Amino acid sequence: MADAQIHDGKCLLSTCSKPGPLKTFKLRAVKKVIECAIERHDDATCSKIQAVLDSQGEQASIDLHKNCYCSYTSKDHIRNLVAKKRKWWHS
Ligand SMILES: [Zn+2]
Repeated sequence: MADAQIHDGKCLLSTCSKPGPLKTFKLRAVKKVIECAIERHDDATCSKIQAVLDSQGEQASIDLHKNCYCSYTSKDHIRNLVAKKRKWWHS
């Protein structure tokens, strides 16, 4: 795990309040989370990470729980979320 540091801190996702060690995700993962934030219409997270990218560029990194990263970027989770929202919009 040379590309990741494990440490304590605050998870980037505002919806997360879990304690536990965080993982630092690098540029490639940062961009992936932004893509998912856009798909999720999660403006708060999207602009937060975009700000990190803007200020840190290639060195950008974000701290997240590994589980948070996995579920946030999971295509199945996003599909379910979008399907649910679509249901709300039409009801
Ligand atoms: Zn978290």
